[in-house]
Amino acid sequence: MTIEFSLSKRQIEMRDNVRMLATGVIRPQSLAWDRAGGVPEEFLRNLARLATSMGSSAMRSGLGEEGGKEKKKSSDSMQSNLGTVLATEELSWADGALLLSLPGPGLGGPPVRATGTPEQKERFFGIFKDQDAPLRWGAYALTEPAAGSDVAGIRTSCRKEGREWVLNGRKCYITNGARASWNVVFATIDPSLGRAGHRAFVVEKGTKGFGVGRIEDKMGLRASETAELVFEDCRVPEENLLGGEEKYASKEGFMTAMKTFDNTRPIVASMAIGIGRAAYDYACDFVKRHYVMSRPIPRYAAMAERLARVGRGLDAARTVTWRAAWLADNGHANAKEASMSKALGGQAAIRACIEAIEICGAEGAIAEDHQLLEKWFRDIKVYDIFEGTGQIQRIVISKRLISNLKSF
Ligand SMILES: Cc1cc2nc3c(=O)[nH]c(=O)nc-3n(C[C@H](O)[C@H](O)[C@H](O)COP(=O)(O)OP(=O)(O)OC[C@H]3O[C@@H](n4cnc5c(N)ncnc54)[C@H](O)[C@@H]3O)c2cc1C
Repeated sequence: MTIEFSLSKRQIEMRDNVRMLATGVIRPQSLAWDRAGGVPEEFLRNLARLATSMGSSAMRSGLGEEGGKEKKKSSDSMQSNLGTVLATEELSWADGALLLSLPGPGLGGPPVRATGTPEQKERFFGIFKDQDAPLRWGAYALTEPAAGSDVAGIRTSCRKEGREWVLNGRKCYITNGARASWNVVFATIDPSLGRAGHRAFVVEKGTKGFGVGRIEDKMGLRASETAELVFEDCRVPEENLLGGEEKYASKEGFMTAMKTFDNTRPIVASMAIGIGRAAYDYACDFVKRHYVMSRPIPRYAAMAERLARVGRGLDAARTVTWRAAWLADNGHANAKEASMSKALGGQAAIRACIEAIEICGAEGAIAEDHQLLEKWFRDIKVYDIFEGTGQIQRIVISKRLISNLKSF
Protein backbone atom coordinates (compact mmCIF):
# COMPACT_ATOMS: atom_id res chain seq x y z
CA MET A 1 0.00 0.00 0.00
CA THR A 2 1.35 3.41 -0.95
CA ILE A 3 0.67 6.45 1.17
CA GLU A 4 1.26 9.68 -0.71
CA PHE A 5 0.62 13.07 0.86
CA SER A 6 2.20 15.35 -1.70
CA LEU A 7 0.32 17.04 -4.53
CA SER A 8 1.41 16.40 -8.10
CA LYS A 9 3.17 19.07 -10.12
CA ARG A 10 -0.04 19.60 -12.08
CA GLN A 11 -2.15 19.99 -8.96
CA ILE A 12 0.27 22.51 -7.48
CA GLU A 13 0.28 24.47 -10.72
CA MET A 14 -3.55 24.51 -10.85
CA ARG A 15 -3.84 25.50 -7.20
CA ASP A 16 -1.29 28.29 -7.62
CA ASN A 17 -3.16 29.69 -10.62
CA VAL A 18 -6.40 29.80 -8.62
CA ARG A 19 -4.51 31.32 -5.68
CA MET A 20 -3.20 34.12 -7.88
CA LEU A 21 -6.72 34.90 -9.09
CA ALA A 22 -8.04 34.69 -5.52
CA THR A 23 -5.44 37.07 -4.17
CA GLY A 24 -5.25 39.59 -6.98
CA VAL A 25 -8.82 39.76 -8.25
CA ILE A 26 -11.36 38.22 -5.85
CA ARG A 27 -10.19 39.21 -2.37
CA PRO A 28 -10.08 42.96 -3.15
CA GLN A 29 -13.81 42.89 -4.06
CA SER A 30 -15.05 40.64 -1.27
CA LEU A 31 -16.18 43.30 1.18
CA ALA A 32 -17.93 45.34 -1.52
CA TRP A 33 -19.93 42.24 -2.60
CA ASP A 34 -20.86 41.59 1.03
CA ARG A 35 -22.14 45.14 1.41
CA ALA A 36 -23.96 45.13 -1.91
CA GLY A 37 -25.56 41.75 -1.11
CA GLY A 38 -24.45 40.06 -4.33
CA VAL A 39 -21.65 39.39 -6.80
CA PRO A 40 -22.09 41.35 -10.08
CA GLU A 41 -23.26 39.11 -12.93
CA GLU A 42 -20.58 40.45 -15.25
CA PHE A 43 -17.91 39.22 -12.87
CA LEU A 44 -19.59 35.80 -12.62
CA ARG A 45 -19.75 35.52 -16.41
CA ASN A 46 -16.08 36.36 -16.83
CA LEU A 47 -15.13 33.91 -14.10
CA ALA A 48 -17.19 31.14 -15.73
CA ARG A 49 -15.32 31.72 -19.02
CA LEU A 50 -11.99 31.66 -17.24
CA ALA A 51 -12.95 28.47 -15.37
CA THR A 52 -13.71 26.72 -18.64
CA SER A 53 -10.35 27.70 -20.06
CA MET A 54 -8.62 26.51 -16.87
CA GLY A 55 -10.70 23.30 -16.73
CA SER A 56 -11.77 24.01 -13.15
CA SER A 57 -15.13 22.57 -12.13
CA ALA A 58 -14.99 24.28 -8.73
CA MET A 59 -14.91 27.65 -10.46
CA ARG A 60 -17.60 26.75 -12.95
CA SER A 61 -20.49 25.47 -10.91
CA GLY A 62 -19.28 25.88 -7.37
CA LEU A 63 -19.95 22.27 -6.55
CA GLY A 64 -18.49 19.95 -9.12
CA GLU A 65 -18.81 19.02 -12.72
CA GLU A 66 -22.16 19.41 -14.44
CA GLY A 67 -21.45 16.95 -17.23
CA GLY A 68 -23.85 14.13 -18.02
CA LYS A 69 -22.02 10.83 -17.76
CA GLU A 70 -20.55 9.75 -14.46
CA LYS A 71 -16.98 8.67 -14.95
CA LYS A 72 -14.08 7.89 -12.69
CA LYS A 73 -11.86 10.94 -12.48
CA SER A 74 -8.14 11.00 -11.94
CA SER A 75 -7.31 12.82 -8.70
CA ASP A 76 -4.79 14.75 -10.78
CA SER A 77 -7.49 16.49 -12.81
CA MET A 78 -9.13 19.78 -11.86
CA GLN A 79 -12.55 18.12 -12.29
CA SER A 80 -11.79 15.47 -9.67
CA ASN A 81 -13.06 15.78 -6.11
CA LEU A 82 -9.50 16.47 -4.98
CA GLY A 83 -8.99 19.13 -7.66
CA THR A 84 -12.28 20.69 -6.64
CA VAL A 85 -11.44 20.86 -2.92
CA LEU A 86 -8.01 22.36 -3.72
CA ALA A 87 -9.55 25.16 -5.82
CA THR A 88 -12.43 25.60 -3.35
CA GLU A 89 -10.11 26.33 -0.43
CA GLU A 90 -8.32 28.99 -2.46
CA LEU A 91 -11.51 30.67 -3.66
CA SER A 92 -13.09 30.63 -0.20
CA TRP A 93 -9.92 32.13 1.25
CA ALA A 94 -10.73 35.07 -1.02
CA ASP A 95 -14.53 35.12 -0.63
CA GLY A 96 -16.96 32.55 0.75
CA ALA A 97 -20.14 33.75 -0.93
CA LEU A 98 -18.62 33.74 -4.42
CA LEU A 99 -18.52 29.95 -4.61
CA LEU A 100 -22.16 29.68 -3.63
CA SER A 101 -23.09 32.32 -6.21
CA LEU A 102 -21.35 30.80 -9.22
CA PRO A 103 -23.65 29.96 -12.13
CA GLY A 104 -24.16 26.27 -12.81
CA PRO A 105 -26.22 23.47 -11.26
CA GLY A 106 -24.67 24.00 -7.80
CA LEU A 107 -26.07 21.69 -5.13
CA GLY A 108 -28.77 20.59 -7.57
CA GLY A 109 -26.12 18.96 -9.77
CA PRO A 110 -25.18 15.92 -7.65
CA PRO A 111 -28.72 14.45 -7.32
CA VAL A 112 -29.43 14.91 -11.03
CA ARG A 113 -26.09 13.31 -11.86
CA ALA A 114 -26.68 10.45 -9.40
CA THR A 115 -30.35 9.66 -10.08
CA GLY A 116 -31.38 11.38 -13.31
CA THR A 117 -32.21 9.43 -16.47
CA PRO A 118 -29.93 10.10 -19.48
CA GLU A 119 -32.70 12.28 -20.96
CA GLN A 120 -33.04 14.29 -17.74
CA LYS A 121 -29.28 14.82 -17.50
CA GLU A 122 -29.22 16.05 -21.07
CA ARG A 123 -32.16 18.40 -20.48
CA PHE A 124 -31.20 19.84 -17.13
CA PHE A 125 -27.44 20.07 -17.59
CA GLY A 126 -27.78 21.11 -21.23
CA ILE A 127 -28.89 24.63 -20.29
CA PHE A 128 -25.49 25.38 -18.76
CA LYS A 129 -23.49 24.62 -21.89
CA ASP A 130 -24.01 27.83 -23.83
CA GLN A 131 -21.57 30.35 -22.42
CA ASP A 132 -23.18 33.24 -24.28
CA ALA A 133 -26.66 32.58 -22.88
CA PRO A 134 -27.86 34.49 -19.78
CA LEU A 135 -26.34 33.15 -16.55
CA ARG A 136 -28.17 30.16 -15.12
CA TRP A 137 -28.30 28.37 -11.78
CA GLY A 138 -29.63 25.12 -10.39
CA ALA A 139 -30.58 24.59 -6.74
CA TYR A 140 -31.40 21.92 -4.18
CA ALA A 141 -34.53 22.30 -2.08
CA LEU A 142 -34.84 19.88 0.81
CA THR A 143 -35.10 21.94 4.01
CA GLU A 144 -38.50 22.98 5.33
CA PRO A 145 -39.56 25.13 8.29
CA ALA A 146 -40.09 21.99 10.40
CA ALA A 147 -37.58 19.65 8.71
CA GLY A 148 -33.91 20.58 8.59
CA SER A 149 -31.69 17.97 10.21
CA ASP A 150 -34.67 15.64 10.38
CA VAL A 151 -34.79 15.13 6.63
CA ALA A 152 -37.23 12.22 6.91
CA GLY A 153 -39.81 14.63 8.34
CA ILE A 154 -40.44 16.72 5.20
CA ARG A 155 -44.11 17.65 4.69
CA THR A 156 -44.18 19.11 1.16
CA SER A 157 -46.67 16.78 -0.48
CA CYS A 158 -46.85 15.32 -3.96
CA ARG A 159 -49.70 13.40 -5.58
CA LYS A 160 -50.04 12.04 -9.09
CA GLU A 161 -52.87 13.38 -11.26
CA GLY A 162 -52.86 12.04 -14.79
CA ARG A 163 -49.47 12.77 -16.30
CA GLU A 164 -48.59 15.41 -13.73
CA TRP A 165 -47.52 15.55 -10.12
CA VAL A 166 -49.13 18.17 -7.89
CA LEU A 167 -46.86 19.67 -5.22
CA ASN A 168 -47.93 21.64 -2.12
CA GLY A 169 -45.69 23.00 0.61
CA ARG A 170 -42.80 25.35 1.45
CA LYS A 171 -39.03 25.07 1.33
CA CYS A 172 -36.71 27.42 3.18
CA TYR A 173 -33.08 28.63 3.15
CA ILE A 174 -32.51 27.49 -0.44
CA THR A 175 -29.23 28.72 -1.91
CA ASN A 176 -29.92 30.35 -5.30
CA GLY A 177 -33.49 29.03 -5.09
CA ALA A 178 -35.10 32.22 -6.40
CA ARG A 179 -32.86 32.75 -9.41
CA ALA A 180 -32.44 29.07 -10.30
CA SER A 181 -33.67 27.84 -13.68
CA TRP A 182 -34.58 24.65 -11.85
CA ASN A 183 -34.74 23.39 -8.28
CA VAL A 184 -34.44 19.75 -7.23
CA VAL A 185 -37.38 19.61 -4.82
CA PHE A 186 -37.98 16.79 -2.35
CA ALA A 187 -41.60 15.97 -1.49
CA THR A 188 -43.49 13.05 0.05
CA ILE A 189 -46.38 10.89 -1.14
CA ASP A 190 -47.19 10.09 2.50
CA PRO A 191 -45.31 11.46 5.54
CA SER A 192 -46.02 8.27 7.51
CA LEU A 193 -43.78 6.33 5.09
CA GLY A 194 -40.68 8.35 6.10
CA ARG A 195 -37.88 8.18 3.55
CA ALA A 196 -39.64 5.50 1.50
CA GLY A 197 -42.34 8.07 0.68
CA HIS A 198 -39.93 10.68 -0.67
CA ARG A 199 -39.78 11.72 -4.32
CA ALA A 200 -37.41 14.19 -5.96
CA PHE A 201 -38.61 16.50 -8.75
CA VAL A 202 -36.90 19.00 -10.96
CA VAL A 203 -39.18 22.03 -10.78
CA GLU A 204 -38.45 24.54 -13.51
CA LYS A 205 -38.73 28.30 -13.11
CA GLY A 206 -42.08 29.52 -14.37
CA THR A 207 -43.93 26.30 -13.48
CA LYS A 208 -47.52 27.16 -12.57
CA GLY A 209 -48.04 27.14 -8.79
CA PHE A 210 -44.36 27.64 -8.00
CA GLY A 211 -43.40 30.95 -6.39
CA VAL A 212 -40.62 32.56 -4.43
CA GLY A 213 -41.32 33.73 -0.86
CA ARG A 214 -38.86 35.89 1.01
CA ILE A 215 -35.15 36.34 0.38
CA GLU A 216 -33.32 35.92 3.69
CA ASP A 217 -31.38 38.76 5.28
CA LYS A 218 -28.43 36.83 6.72
CA MET A 219 -25.69 37.52 9.26
CA GLY A 220 -22.98 36.16 6.97
CA LEU A 221 -22.46 35.09 3.35
CA ARG A 222 -24.59 38.10 2.51
CA ALA A 223 -23.58 38.06 -1.14
CA SER A 224 -25.15 34.61 -1.54
CA GLU A 225 -28.90 34.40 -2.25
CA THR A 226 -30.94 32.31 0.22
CA ALA A 227 -34.64 31.98 -0.62
CA GLU A 228 -37.95 30.59 0.52
CA LEU A 229 -39.89 28.63 -2.11
CA VAL A 230 -43.65 28.13 -2.18
CA PHE A 231 -45.60 25.38 -3.95
CA GLU A 232 -49.35 25.82 -4.28
CA ASP A 233 -50.95 23.16 -6.44
CA CYS A 234 -47.76 23.31 -8.45
CA ARG A 235 -48.12 21.03 -11.47
CA VAL A 236 -44.92 19.27 -12.48
CA PRO A 237 -44.84 17.05 -15.60
CA GLU A 238 -44.16 13.37 -14.86
CA GLU A 239 -40.97 13.54 -16.93
CA ASN A 240 -39.51 15.74 -14.16
CA LEU A 241 -39.70 13.03 -11.49
CA LEU A 242 -35.99 12.47 -10.98
CA GLY A 243 -34.96 9.01 -12.15
CA GLY A 244 -38.50 8.00 -13.22
CA GLU A 245 -41.11 6.01 -11.23
CA GLU A 246 -39.18 2.72 -11.13
CA LYS A 247 -36.38 4.39 -9.19
CA TYR A 248 -38.73 4.69 -6.23
CA ALA A 249 -39.87 1.07 -6.09
CA SER A 250 -37.33 0.69 -3.28
CA LYS A 251 -35.68 3.23 -0.95
CA GLU A 252 -32.80 3.33 -3.42
CA GLY A 253 -33.87 6.50 -5.22
CA PHE A 254 -33.90 8.60 -2.10
CA MET A 255 -30.76 7.01 -0.71
CA THR A 256 -28.86 7.77 -3.91
CA ALA A 257 -29.82 11.41 -3.62
CA MET A 258 -28.60 11.41 -0.02
CA LYS A 259 -25.31 9.82 -1.05
CA THR A 260 -24.51 12.94 -3.01
CA PHE A 261 -23.58 14.45 0.37
CA ASP A 262 -20.53 12.18 0.35
CA ASN A 263 -19.17 14.28 -2.52
CA THR A 264 -20.39 17.68 -1.38
CA ARG A 265 -19.42 17.55 2.33
CA PRO A 266 -15.65 17.60 1.66
CA ILE A 267 -16.24 20.56 -0.66
CA VAL A 268 -18.14 22.43 2.05
CA ALA A 269 -15.37 21.46 4.51
CA SER A 270 -12.77 23.00 2.20
CA MET A 271 -14.89 26.18 1.91
CA ALA A 272 -14.75 26.49 5.70
CA ILE A 273 -11.03 25.71 5.81
CA GLY A 274 -10.40 28.44 3.22
CA ILE A 275 -12.13 31.05 5.41
CA GLY A 276 -10.40 29.70 8.53
CA ARG A 277 -7.04 29.96 6.77
CA ALA A 278 -7.82 33.55 5.76
CA ALA A 279 -8.44 34.48 9.42
CA TYR A 280 -5.37 32.54 10.52
CA ASP A 281 -3.14 34.28 7.94
CA TYR A 282 -4.49 37.64 9.09
CA ALA A 283 -3.80 36.87 12.75
CA CYS A 284 -0.28 35.59 11.98
CA ASP A 285 0.45 38.79 10.14
CA PHE A 286 -1.01 40.87 12.98
CA VAL A 287 1.17 39.13 15.55
CA LYS A 288 4.25 39.65 13.38
CA ARG A 289 3.43 43.35 13.02
CA HIS A 290 2.51 44.03 16.62
CA TYR A 291 4.34 41.58 18.82
CA VAL A 292 7.64 40.36 17.46
CA MET A 293 10.42 42.46 19.06
CA SER A 294 8.03 45.08 20.44
CA ARG A 295 6.13 43.39 23.27
CA PRO A 296 7.12 41.31 26.30
CA ILE A 297 8.18 37.79 25.35
CA PRO A 298 5.60 35.92 27.49
CA ARG A 299 2.74 37.65 25.72
CA TYR A 300 4.21 36.87 22.29
CA ALA A 301 4.77 33.26 23.34
CA ALA A 302 1.12 32.95 24.37
CA MET A 303 0.01 34.35 21.00
CA ALA A 304 2.32 31.99 19.12
CA GLU A 305 0.93 29.03 21.04
CA ARG A 306 -2.65 30.05 20.17
CA LEU A 307 -1.74 30.40 16.52
CA ALA A 308 -0.02 27.01 16.54
CA ARG A 309 -3.20 25.43 17.90
CA VAL A 310 -5.29 27.05 15.17
CA GLY A 311 -2.79 26.10 12.46
CA ARG A 312 -2.69 22.45 13.42
CA GLY A 313 -6.48 22.27 13.63
CA LEU A 314 -6.81 23.59 10.08
CA ASP A 315 -4.08 21.28 8.82
CA ALA A 316 -5.68 18.22 10.42
CA ALA A 317 -9.07 19.13 8.93
CA ARG A 318 -7.48 19.65 5.51
CA THR A 319 -5.78 16.24 5.63
CA VAL A 320 -9.08 14.48 6.38
CA THR A 321 -10.82 16.52 3.67
CA TRP A 322 -8.27 15.58 1.01
CA ARG A 323 -8.58 11.95 2.07
CA ALA A 324 -12.38 12.04 1.78
CA ALA A 325 -12.05 13.56 -1.72
CA TRP A 326 -9.35 11.08 -2.75
CA LEU A 327 -11.51 8.14 -1.61
CA ALA A 328 -14.41 9.41 -3.76
CA ASP A 329 -12.11 9.89 -6.78
CA ASN A 330 -10.89 6.33 -6.44
CA GLY A 331 -14.33 4.77 -6.16
CA HIS A 332 -14.15 3.98 -2.42
CA ALA A 333 -16.92 4.54 0.13
CA ASN A 334 -16.24 7.79 1.99
CA ALA A 335 -19.40 8.59 3.99
CA LYS A 336 -17.57 8.50 7.33
CA GLU A 337 -14.61 10.57 6.08
CA ALA A 338 -16.94 13.04 4.32
CA SER A 339 -18.77 13.65 7.61
CA MET A 340 -15.48 13.82 9.51
CA SER A 341 -14.15 16.44 7.10
CA LYS A 342 -17.31 18.52 7.44
CA ALA A 343 -17.34 18.29 11.25
CA LEU A 344 -13.61 19.02 11.58
CA GLY A 345 -13.47 21.69 8.87
CA GLY A 346 -16.36 23.69 10.32
CA GLN A 347 -15.06 23.51 13.89
CA ALA A 348 -11.41 24.26 13.02
CA ALA A 349 -12.44 27.24 10.90
CA ILE A 350 -14.82 28.64 13.53
CA ARG A 351 -12.04 28.34 16.11
CA ALA A 352 -9.64 30.09 13.69
CA CYS A 353 -12.02 33.04 13.22
CA ILE A 354 -12.74 33.38 16.96
CA GLU A 355 -9.04 33.21 17.90
CA ALA A 356 -8.10 35.67 15.15
CA ILE A 357 -10.66 38.22 16.38
CA GLU A 358 -9.47 37.82 19.96
CA ILE A 359 -5.77 38.02 19.05
CA CYS A 360 -6.30 41.21 17.06
CA GLY A 361 -8.27 42.87 19.87
CA ALA A 362 -10.35 45.86 18.77
CA GLU A 363 -8.93 45.73 15.23
CA GLY A 364 -10.56 42.32 14.85
CA ALA A 365 -14.06 43.57 15.57
CA ILE A 366 -14.11 46.69 13.44
CA ALA A 367 -15.72 46.66 10.00
CA GLU A 368 -13.49 48.97 8.02
CA ASP A 369 -12.89 49.04 4.33
CA HIS A 370 -9.64 47.13 4.37
CA GLN A 371 -10.58 44.74 7.11
CA LEU A 372 -12.22 41.40 6.51
CA LEU A 373 -11.86 39.69 9.87
CA GLU A 374 -15.26 40.84 11.05
CA LYS A 375 -16.78 39.52 7.79
CA TRP A 376 -15.12 36.11 8.08
CA PHE A 377 -16.41 35.88 11.66
CA ARG A 378 -19.96 36.50 10.37
CA ASP A 379 -19.53 34.15 7.39
CA ILE A 380 -18.05 31.12 9.11
CA LYS A 381 -20.80 29.93 11.46
CA VAL A 382 -23.06 28.71 8.71
CA TYR A 383 -20.50 26.11 7.58
CA ASP A 384 -21.30 24.21 10.74
CA ILE A 385 -25.03 24.40 9.93
CA PHE A 386 -25.74 23.72 6.24
CA GLU A 387 -25.03 20.38 4.53
CA GLY A 388 -25.76 18.80 7.93
CA THR A 389 -24.93 20.48 11.23
CA GLY A 390 -21.84 19.55 13.26
CA GLN A 391 -24.02 17.50 15.62
CA ILE A 392 -25.52 15.58 12.71
CA GLN A 393 -22.04 14.83 11.29
CA ARG A 394 -21.01 13.46 14.67
CA ILE A 395 -24.08 11.21 14.70
CA VAL A 396 -23.23 9.91 11.19
CA ILE A 397 -19.60 9.32 12.23
CA SER A 398 -20.47 7.51 15.43
CA LYS A 399 -23.00 5.27 13.66
CA ARG A 400 -20.35 4.34 11.06
CA LEU A 401 -17.67 3.78 13.67
CA ILE A 402 -19.88 1.60 15.82
CA SER A 403 -21.12 -0.54 12.94
CA ASN A 404 -17.47 -0.95 11.81
CA LEU A 405 -16.09 -1.42 15.29
CA LYS A 406 -13.65 -4.15 14.20
CA SER A 407 -11.93 -2.00 11.58
CA PHE A 408 -11.70 0.89 14.05
C1 LIG B 1 -27.05 30.07 4.34
C2 LIG B 1 -27.81 28.78 4.28
C3 LIG B 1 -27.94 28.13 3.07
C4 LIG B 1 -28.67 26.93 2.98
N1 LIG B 1 -28.84 26.33 1.76
C5 LIG B 1 -29.67 25.26 1.67
C6 LIG B 1 -29.99 24.70 0.39
O1 LIG B 1 -29.47 25.14 -0.66
N2 LIG B 1 -30.87 23.67 0.32
C7 LIG B 1 -31.46 23.14 1.46
O2 LIG B 1 -32.26 22.20 1.33
N3 LIG B 1 -31.18 23.65 2.68
C8 LIG B 1 -30.30 24.69 2.81
N4 LIG B 1 -30.04 25.24 4.05
C9 LIG B 1 -30.67 24.68 5.23
C10 LIG B 1 -29.72 23.86 6.09
O3 LIG B 1 -29.36 22.67 5.44
C11 LIG B 1 -30.41 23.62 7.44
O4 LIG B 1 -30.43 24.86 8.11
C12 LIG B 1 -29.70 22.58 8.28
O5 LIG B 1 -29.90 21.30 7.75
C13 LIG B 1 -30.17 22.57 9.73
O6 LIG B 1 -31.55 22.51 9.79
P1 LIG B 1 -32.39 23.55 10.71
O7 LIG B 1 -31.91 24.91 10.38
O8 LIG B 1 -33.82 23.24 10.55
O9 LIG B 1 -31.91 23.22 12.17
P2 LIG B 1 -32.42 22.01 13.08
O10 LIG B 1 -32.40 20.74 12.33
O11 LIG B 1 -33.70 22.40 13.72
O12 LIG B 1 -31.27 21.98 14.18
C14 LIG B 1 -31.22 22.89 15.29
C15 LIG B 1 -30.16 22.35 16.25
O13 LIG B 1 -30.54 21.05 16.72
C16 LIG B 1 -29.48 20.14 16.50
N5 LIG B 1 -30.02 18.80 16.22
C17 LIG B 1 -30.95 18.47 15.32
N6 LIG B 1 -31.18 17.14 15.34
C18 LIG B 1 -30.35 16.62 16.30
C19 LIG B 1 -30.11 15.31 16.79
N7 LIG B 1 -30.77 14.26 16.32
N8 LIG B 1 -29.19 15.17 17.78
C20 LIG B 1 -28.50 16.23 18.27
N9 LIG B 1 -28.70 17.50 17.84
C21 LIG B 1 -29.60 17.69 16.86
C22 LIG B 1 -28.74 20.69 15.30
O14 LIG B 1 -27.41 20.19 15.23
C23 LIG B 1 -28.80 22.17 15.59
O15 LIG B 1 -27.78 22.53 16.49
C24 LIG B 1 -29.27 26.39 4.16
C25 LIG B 1 -29.11 27.04 5.39
C26 LIG B 1 -28.39 28.22 5.45
C27 LIG B 1 -28.27 28.89 6.81
